[in-house]
Amino acid sequence: MRKIAIALAATAALVCAALAATPPAEKAAAIGAWGFDLTGMDRSVKPGDDFFDYANGAWFKRTTIPPDRTSIGSFQELRILSEQRMKDLIAGLHAKDPAALTPEEHQILDLYDAFTDTAGIEARGLAPIKPDLARIAALKSLDDVAALMGDPAFPSWGAGDSIVADRIVPDAKNSNVYVVTATQSGLGMPNRDYYLRTDDPGLAATRDAYKKYLAQALTLAGETGDIEARAAAVYALEEDMARAHWQQADRRNADKVYNPTTVAALQGSAPGFNWIAFFKAQGIGPDRKVIARENTAFAPLAQVFARTPVGVWRDYLTIHYIHAMAPYLPKAIDDSDFDFYGKVIGGQAQQLPRDTRAVQLIDATLPHPFGKLYAARYFPPETKAKAEALVANIIKAYDADIRKITWMSDVTKQKALDKLHAFTPHIGYPDKWRDYSGLVIRRDDLVGDMERSSVFEWQYRLNRIDQAVDRNEWNMTPPTVNAYYTQSFNSIFFPAAILQPPFFDPNADDAVNYGGIGVVIGHEIGHGFDDQGSKYDGAGILQSWWTDADRKAFEERVAALGAQYDSYEGLPGLHVNGKLTMGENIGDLSGVAIALKAYHASLGGKKAPVLDGFTGDQRFFLAFAQVWRGKYTDAAMRQQVLTNPHSPPHWRAVGPERNVDAWYAAFKVKPGDRMYIAPDKRVKLW
Ligand SMILES: [Zn+2]
Repeated sequence: MRKIAIALAATAALVCAALAATPPAEKAAAIGAWGFDLTGMDRSVKPGDDFFDYANGAWFKRTTIPPDRTSIGSFQELRILSEQRMKDLIAGLHAKDPAALTPEEHQILDLYDAFTDTAGIEARGLAPIKPDLARIAALKSLDDVAALMGDPAFPSWGAGDSIVADRIVPDAKNSNVYVVTATQSGLGMPNRDYYLRTDDPGLAATRDAYKKYLAQALTLAGETGDIEARAAAVYALEEDMARAHWQQADRRNADKVYNPTTVAALQGSAPGFNWIAFFKAQGIGPDRKVIARENTAFAPLAQVFARTPVGVWRDYLTIHYIHAMAPYLPKAIDDSDFDFYGKVIGGQAQQLPRDTRAVQLIDATLPHPFGKLYAARYFPPETKAKAEALVANIIKAYDADIRKITWMSDVTKQKALDKLHAFTPHIGYPDKWRDYSGLVIRRDDLVGDMERSSVFEWQYRLNRIDQAVDRNEWNMTPPTVNAYYTQSFNSIFFPAAILQPPFFDPNADDAVNYGGIGVVIGHEIGHGFDDQGSKYDGAGILQSWWTDADRKAFEERVAALGAQYDSYEGLPGLHVNGKLTMGENIGDLSGVAIALKAYHASLGGKKAPVLDGFTGDQRFFLAFAQVWRGKYTDAAMRQQVLTNPHSPPHWRAVGPERNVDAWYAAFKVKPGDRMYIAPDKRVKLW
């Protein structure tokens, strides 16, 4: 039962506040009368010409990106809400009697206070990083450099401070054990395209700014003497590494990146870099198995390493270290870092307020102690139950659909059904919280806090390397507005913060919930059957379960989908990469197709009501487009298109429907409309 009338909606909140026992049907939807923002539409646009603008055009016109953000839209607005709630949690802890705080609450407050004590940070200046800078300055040989690059106490925080980065994750071919996985790394800009693509003036300007940044970072670290030439040498080194790197799209290919070797064998296959010293610094011995992801890049990267003088590596490490530590250092360094990474790379005009950055840092550094507080306060148990019921309905719709697929043989269908029924949904937050009591946080030692956190996280992963895999482990925190699928666990995860309007609102129209969170659930399950996820079986093992003929039929279909997305642009002239975004586009198409069927099934043979003149199917598609209403700075859009496997929001809102017959029927989309695709050219997976 859903609330549908505007008149009731206007009073429902009052009723609800006065009568706790009022059933949910009496509550108002959070957005509009039935869960959709009618004021955001631009009805002067024909739905078949541009469905994004039809559903979101007025919102797009009236909305400006806040100066301290790189985008705004449904996701970003919920992120801002999560940040506010995290700040409220902090304020609540600060208001408590310190004697009543738990050890975890102390940890959280200490980190918050350490990060927001900008006076203390200024007063300490570079003193906290002097020992690390001295370690870099003392490097005498390339072997010394390799060993320092491996040291987990020398944190990189994703800044890339070595030719490879390694992680300990479930083995794709045996997801019950953990394995060391090494991936190409080392660049200060987002990926190789930023160094090598010559067809985009935006990238040329970014490169110029980066060269200036490199010189400035050296100066801020206290270096003197021929800074320009030294920065140029670091740039040339990174450009060299970029040439060796794989293209972004190839890095998604589950077969291509599964290349087992050992630490000792890398010494022979990629000579020039002391792999043994690098891994030894992390507590990993020479006989340990390693999956070398972009394996053909390793030898050229090791050659770049060997032919680069130690002095250039010292400057490189100094700069990357300064970048990684910038948020914890005096304002001059933090600002310089923001001027490049925030303004130039992200197109963000202003830095976020310090307290916002503080809660983001706590979310990342103390994810379990803080996530526990968030979930207890902001995730009602009934939301969990309702989301679980929705997941069950989406799985049911997939089941019914798989049985009807015309292009798949019965034997592959049975395997697909086995995989579908092996899916494990995780809703809201982890069942078990990790113990962070071993991590020492001191309010007067922010740099030390971050280094101890880096070692703490590494040690946690290293300690379990020969242990059974924890298949219930979450990689997102409860305040995160996102969701994901894990191939190795065949599991889907929906953090608490995405289970809110406009994605999910128990008081909204069913069509809105199926078009919102229903599609998100369908999308995540769809990853189990996307171009890469479909290579894993129901147990999460990378092994084919398809007949050759079925695989061929599947690949023909998705190739046509890739061609559609290749034709879309993120910025004028900057095309979406259909290969890079393939998995996500399949997820989106699967999500829309299946969630619509689940919505139809939920009607139980009854006709959906018409609300504000919109049929049920129309509301489903409008709600879906509302989820993807978003606006990016040009720089953030460039980064999205070049590095991110997700298509830009405009095309996420439009791309799937073009292949769904019900959308044509719902909005009377006809030949001649710009988004029209002839029926025989529409890509049908489900
Ligand atoms: Zn996805």
